[in-house]
Amino acid sequence: MESEDPFNNALAQLASITDIVSIDPEYYEMLKSPRREVIVSLPLKLVNGDTVTYTGYRVQHNNARGPYKGGIRYHQNVTLSEVKALSMWMTWKSAIIDIPFGGAKGGITVEPKKLSHDDLERLTRKYVDAIERDIGPEIDIPAPDLNTNPQTMAWIMNEYSRLKGHNVPAVVTGKPVEVGGSEGRNAATGRGVAICVREAVKKFLKKDMKDVTVAVQGFGNVGTNTARYLMEMGAKIVALSDVVGGARSVNPKGYFDQKFDDLLAESNKIGSISNVKGVEQISNEEVLESEADVLVPSALENQLTEQNAHKIRASLVVEAANGPTTPMADKTLQRKGIRLVPDILANSGGVLVSYFEWVQNLNRDHWTEKAVNERLEAKMTKAFYEVLDYSEKHNIDMRRAALVLAVERVAAAMKLSGWH
Ligand code: GLU
Repeated sequence: MESEDPFNNALAQLASITDIVSIDPEYYEMLKSPRREVIVSLPLKLVNGDTVTYTGYRVQHNNARGPYKGGIRYHQNVTLSEVKALSMWMTWKSAIIDIPFGGAKGGITVEPKKLSHDDLERLTRKYVDAIERDIGPEIDIPAPDLNTNPQTMAWIMNEYSRLKGHNVPAVVTGKPVEVGGSEGRNAATGRGVAICVREAVKKFLKKDMKDVTVAVQGFGNVGTNTARYLMEMGAKIVALSDVVGGARSVNPKGYFDQKFDDLLAESNKIGSISNVKGVEQISNEEVLESEADVLVPSALENQLTEQNAHKIRASLVVEAANGPTTPMADKTLQRKGIRLVPDILANSGGVLVSYFEWVQNLNRDHWTEKAVNERLEAKMTKAFYEVLDYSEKHNIDMRRAALVLAVERVAAAMKLSGWH
């Protein structure tokens, strides 16, 4: 049985580049473990009168290239191992997209749907109180991730500012625009994923976007924005899914032909994309195994595994989620000749625009959406071709190429700064 432990998988990925990467063994060794792991206990009196103790995490993997950076997720399955893996992936992501940040991640083991708005606000503030000394604009800058959003970030900023006695917008990114958020941040991850799909389709499938079919698994912030931009680029979305279930379009054209925002509004109204009129309900597995040129997993870790990788029919996988493919599945996909754009490159548009937000906050500035999107486009395409060129030059897959480039950049910073 293969491991589904996220941190084991992150370490297995790191082990897969030992023969290619040229760094001193001592830096390689240091990169295997996060620098700090903070675990906090969060007792909360709920509005219904019960007191429940939640566990919160903040793991700081590496800060050789700049302050720690990474999102906070609220999910019932959050574990230390998952947060550690995600923190390591953040270090690689910041290095690949070439921004002056390290990598961190946080989380609370909680099912947010079960909490009232008021409880969630108080839980978020308690978490900030507990990690106050570990975060800060020059220390570690949180952001949204699974089940957290601009509202959550506004609470974080307000609580941190309250503790400091003055307004500190740069402590967190992904805030609403009204309180110092950046234009374009909310949609940035999906926009970056769509740019990677577009370039990979051109390069690997040698097709026009208008002739490409896509299946998107996951309908959160990243999945929805990716699907929206892909549709705008002319791609044909044939299957979609959310936490409730999957949906295949059954209109005569074979793809969703309505306006994306209408689709989203309808699915929000009735609770799931799988219940929208005119779709065939399919399982999550069927979405992953769709007959489509491109598969975009945009949900959780461990979606493409030893069990289903041989059934994948797409020619190209672009990882919008973090860690959706296990190392064993990776090998199967490669054997089948399926090309893959790895998470640390494909979804780095989010942290990139987080960086733009942090820069704007530090300068008390506000850029236009056009300026943000132009810079996103330029940085994403540059990173995509850097990874692609390296993979072609060394005849390795894009996951390993991205990892080698990232690890070498981080190790160079460690060495020059005299880490030992
Ligand atoms: N949570 C997002 C990620 O996994 C964004 C992180 C950030 O903006 O700091 O990349």
